[in-house]
Amino acid sequence: MAIDLRSDTVTQPSAEMRKAMAMAPVGDDQYGEDPSVNLLQDRIAELLGKEAALFVPSGTMANQTALKTFTRPGDDVLVSTEAHILLHESGASGANSGVQFSVVGEGGLFTRTDFLAHCKPHGHMVMPPTTLVTIENTHNRGSGVVFPQEDIVAICREANAHGVHSLCDGARLFNASIASGLSLAELAAPFDVVTVALSKGLGCPVGSLVAGRSDDMQRAHRVRRMFGGAMRQAGILAAAGLYALDYNLARLADDHKNARLIAETLVQIRGVTIDLEKIQSNIVIFSLADGMPDAATVVTRAKIKGVLLNVFGLRRVRAVTHLNVSREDCMRAAEILADVIAS
Ligand SMILES: *Cc1c(COP(=O)(O)O)cnc(C)c1O
Repeated sequence: MAIDLRSDTVTQPSAEMRKAMAMAPVGDDQYGEDPSVNLLQDRIAELLGKEAALFVPSGTMANQTALKTFTRPGDDVLVSTEAHILLHESGASGANSGVQFSVVGEGGLFTRTDFLAHCKPHGHMVMPPTTLVTIENTHNRGSGVVFPQEDIVAICREANAHGVHSLCDGARLFNASIASGLSLAELAAPFDVVTVALSKGLGCPVGSLVAGRSDDMQRAHRVRRMFGGAMRQAGILAAAGLYALDYNLARLADDHKNARLIAETLVQIRGVTIDLEKIQSNIVIFSLADGMPDAATVVTRAKIKGVLLNVFGLRRVRAVTHLNVSREDCMRAAEILADVIAS
């Protein structure tokens, strides 16, 4: 069987997770009557230190729901370079919320100074008002780097002072917590709204949540319905999330070690560049120098030898570790990769 390092979304629900799903008590969630969904929302809200949370089908819908809840058409939103909300949501932000993005910083990170340099005033005759700043933690295209918490605190404090709301795209906030040793509540505290995904490292088949203040989440509830994301007996899905919080959270540390292992093998190959300092979680992005095979070639050759990866640019490749690949799989994958890059 192939070693699938394309994404942590490829994970399969385990037999135990499926059992928890099959046994889940359910009700009509649109009436607020699904006990499993309610329990999951309460647990996530508590973990994140927020008043309320809302279960949605995907991370994209979580981000889009948050965006719609906190902006008006014509608003300006500050985002990091290559953010998911900018590059991976099919233009939804422009189509659904009518916002424009200003991209700030580099490598997926930015600072309070970047925020101040790009934050546009409210009530200005010509400029679009900046009403939201979003931070992705960990940053996918930034090689899974954890956004420095002191920068988050400084940016969100400044945002608050300027009447700008703050959104954390925490699709991999569980990874950020394990990697940094900071609790989910500490990571979430500076933000008005936080999204987290169950279908990445936690290994659930479906689901994300949006968390924040109760009144904001009530508005988000309506937005979810507008986007067609209201669900009924969704407790079957929520039960997978409840299971994952109990059994799949602490083990993310293994994924991080495995990513490190891959990175440390690849960095020794001439013509391969990896910023080892940024390999802090379960994502390894490496670049191939001119004269080396390009990303598409490496990915095709690796596939023939049973290792699946994603092309992330002309000369950039991404590998992601997760609960369905073991340490041995990762060592083997790194050897195969070293082989196909060098040949
Ligand atoms: C995966 C991901 C999402 C959500 O993706 P979906 O495929 O819609 O669940 C959002 N943000 C980041 C940073 C992600 O990596």
